[in-house]
Amino acid sequence: MDGTREPAAVVDAVLRAHPGLPGLTDEDTRQAMADLLDAGFVEDAGAPVPVSGRERVRYSRGVPLLRWMDLGPRATPWDAQLRLLSARVLLIGVGGTGGHAAQSLVASGVGRLHCVDPDVVELSNLNRQPLFRESDLGRPKVEAALGTLRALNSDVTVTGERREVRGPEDLAELVRSGAPAVPRPPAVPRPPAAPRPPAAPRPLGVPATSELPGASEPYDLLVLAADRPDDIRRWANRVCLAAGLPWVDAGYRGPLVTAGIHVPGRGACWECLRAAEVARRDLRLAPGQDEEAASPHLPWNPASAVTAGLSGGLLAHAALALLTGVPALDPGFRFGMNLMLPGDPVLERSPRRPDCPACGDDRPTGGRAGSQAAERNGGPPGEPTREPPPERTGEPPAERTGKPPGEPSPERTGEPPGEPAGERAEGRSWNRAGGQG
Ligand SMILES: [Zn+2]
Repeated sequence: MDGTREPAAVVDAVLRAHPGLPGLTDEDTRQAMADLLDAGFVEDAGAPVPVSGRERVRYSRGVPLLRWMDLGPRATPWDAQLRLLSARVLLIGVGGTGGHAAQSLVASGVGRLHCVDPDVVELSNLNRQPLFRESDLGRPKVEAALGTLRALNSDVTVTGERREVRGPEDLAELVRSGAPAVPRPPAVPRPPAAPRPPAAPRPLGVPATSELPGASEPYDLLVLAADRPDDIRRWANRVCLAAGLPWVDAGYRGPLVTAGIHVPGRGACWECLRAAEVARRDLRLAPGQDEEAASPHLPWNPASAVTAGLSGGLLAHAALALLTGVPALDPGFRFGMNLMLPGDPVLERSPRRPDCPACGDDRPTGGRAGSQAAERNGGPPGEPTREPPPERTGEPPAERTGKPPGEPSPERTGEPPGEPAGERAEGRSWNRAGGQG
């Protein structure tokens, strides 16, 4: 059934291939074909490819992988890629983790990517941050990143702003602003245009760059790759819960690299996972005792091209899974690896906590926001997700837990003099992935 034979020829081939199968008839085989067609598991090999010739070639290796991992029915082999081409993503942080993730998303053909970062490129960044060159030293990271990303794939609309997220309000404003719809001239000369089919509609919601409307459009995903301020993950959790916006984050703590997948209304939120992690580790701290005493951290953030690359790769995978639905992942978990224990995968999953101050049923804004978010994100309100028991291996020494928003950050004093801001440690990262820079 690859488009080269009529149904009758397919039936003959099946019967010839299984001569010993008792009771197999023409009718059985025809019915099986009909069932497969009805269920959406048969692609039309003759269907027009719904992208330009140039995109068809560019994504010719990625689309087969998406088809491989996509276990659901689909209208065309390009379904998942079309969802990606229509996606609008907000990326916070373009350092090690964020730079690698941005590179993967842009190369893969995300529709629009808006990058936010406050820093300038420093020499110590160049051991792991892939978007920068020596010639970029002293330039704002966002400026250099945009040049690199646009040169990589000029079919993707990449925008950015040099800005620091100083509090949840900043993050909420960025999310609320939506993807800028600013027409952008190509950063690099395009190669001669491949013949474009006359009826090559862009996927849903994605006009060609020259047709971008004046208004911004809401994001489909927040990709968090910033490690400061210390509470930025908590802010992201609260802001995304309020907005019903799925988000992903990733980072590393030494050789441990993890990424988290969070969808409001579906499974545990970031704070649910954090609470479960604190309980699981059972540090037996005395009341008021700081966790730092039990788990000191380095005053800088050790990182290499390998840890940043893996972290960014996992982050991009998490983002692509949520944007395309391939592979279909049940959100509300962290996953990763420990390079010192390469055979032991890392997985953190726990049920949503009804008493969670961020997503729980008892919080002031309670079930309504959660229900709306669940509805938006494809899950019925209150639907229990599959929650296997926490499975943990290969964990490094425990570290400190998070703190409520607004609490001072004493560990900042431990930073070595002259350490660039983007290199700061995030010692209180509960999820044991302490940096993204
Ligand atoms: Zn929660």
